[in-house]
Amino acid sequence: MVKILLPTPLRPYAGGAASVEVSGSTVAEALAGLVAQHDGLRRHLFDEAGRLRSFVNVYKNEEDVRYLEKDATPVAEGDALSIVPSIAGGSTAAPPEVAALSNDEIRRYSRHLIMPEVGLEGQRKLKAARVLAIGTGGLGSPLSLYLAAAGVGTLGLVDFDVVDDSNLQRQVLFGTRDVGRPKLQAAAERLKDLNPNVDVVRFEERLTSENALAIFRDFDIVADGTDNFPTRYLVNDACVLTGKPNVYASIFRFEGQASVFWAQKGPCYRCLYTEPPPAGLVPSCAEGGVLGILPGLLGVLQATEVVKLILGTGEPLIGRLLLVDALGMRFRELKLRKNPDCVVCGPNPTVTKLIDYEAFCGVTPEAPAAGIPEISVEELKDLRDRGAAFVLVDVREPHEIAISSFPESVKIPLGTLAQNVNRLSTADEIVVHCKTGGRSARAVQFLREAGFKKVRNLAGGINRWAELIDPSMPKY
Ligand code: ZN
Repeated sequence: MVKILLPTPLRPYAGGAASVEVSGSTVAEALAGLVAQHDGLRRHLFDEAGRLRSFVNVYKNEEDVRYLEKDATPVAEGDALSIVPSIAGGSTAAPPEVAALSNDEIRRYSRHLIMPEVGLEGQRKLKAARVLAIGTGGLGSPLSLYLAAAGVGTLGLVDFDVVDDSNLQRQVLFGTRDVGRPKLQAAAERLKDLNPNVDVVRFEERLTSENALAIFRDFDIVADGTDNFPTRYLVNDACVLTGKPNVYASIFRFEGQASVFWAQKGPCYRCLYTEPPPAGLVPSCAEGGVLGILPGLLGVLQATEVVKLILGTGEPLIGRLLLVDALGMRFRELKLRKNPDCVVCGPNPTVTKLIDYEAFCGVTPEAPAAGIPEISVEELKDLRDRGAAFVLVDVREPHEIAISSFPESVKIPLGTLAQNVNRLSTADEIVVHCKTGGRSARAVQFLREAGFKKVRNLAGGINRWAELIDPSMPKY
């Protein structure tokens, strides 16, 4: 027997049942079995010619059968088929159930309740809504704070990090006393204090191709607050495969982007960016920095879009890319089109299940260091203490050198190394360093290709030196 899960609008035609057990070995046979049991469903699911209506999607477990073998998709004992009709009118992503409000909640949300655009009905939709925030960092902090304050009933959080000193410049969900604590533990406490009515669901794990579909299943809207390309493509593809809207934002230094990717109603992230940039080309916030306020600005935009989707009101950012330039304080908008050749949301998708996103994005953490000779901070200390003859090269930027540096180092920013290579001699023993060892590994690779044989990378960079050798040196 196969279980068919019915959405709320269709249950009245099946005697109020949320699920029906049928027999059949394909999707077509199972659906035929369903309408044989409940004839009232027939006209809602099939047109006059007996074809499945175009706005009715059928999922086998987590997979849309259009991407399997359509009607002919085999089903077996234990499989669950979900019938997912597109939602009529507006762009609401809230479940049709509405929750009742207590008198305490009515007092708490009174500024919403007196707005005609929200009102009692809208506040109930917010309470019934289930929103999943990927990441509780710079974007996830304001996002989850405002969604909790607004009365979103179920807030899922995915993060596995620990609060670090350097997070507090922008991650306003956390305080100084939280440094060293798991982020989700601190986040849940703060959000519960802000609004005890919110059910905070914690996923203290890295989002992966293995767990994403199962985590997404119980939520209506996903908000992507990640800072890396593998997770961003994973979130996009999982949203497309499960039919969920992906409320997206990204940030870098003074610039941000926001949009709502919802494949059923517009383009997805892959329609915009088919492929990720080559690894290392676009620096992360950890490497390139970010104005602490910027994720606040973008995270609040995300929260606004989430609330609009729940209420089914206003004009969502579907098919539009909002570009924020905080330095010029300018907001621009680009029109996004659905790419007919999109590999995940197009009519002939080649990505029909989650893939290996680390490999797709060319992120192989060990690769840059492989084969690159290294020196530890302890060995460097020994060389310096002995007064050994060697040249120390610092490939960081001037604003970083202003924070910490070795007085004797030759300072050549990585981007200018090719022009300045004549300042170094292949005869010398050379040690290259940067902040944490990534850029200097690339510099060592470049120098070795240029004929330098006696060149080594300082493992862990100057930050590890500050940590293990010289505690008086600032770490950044
Ligand atoms: Zn697409």
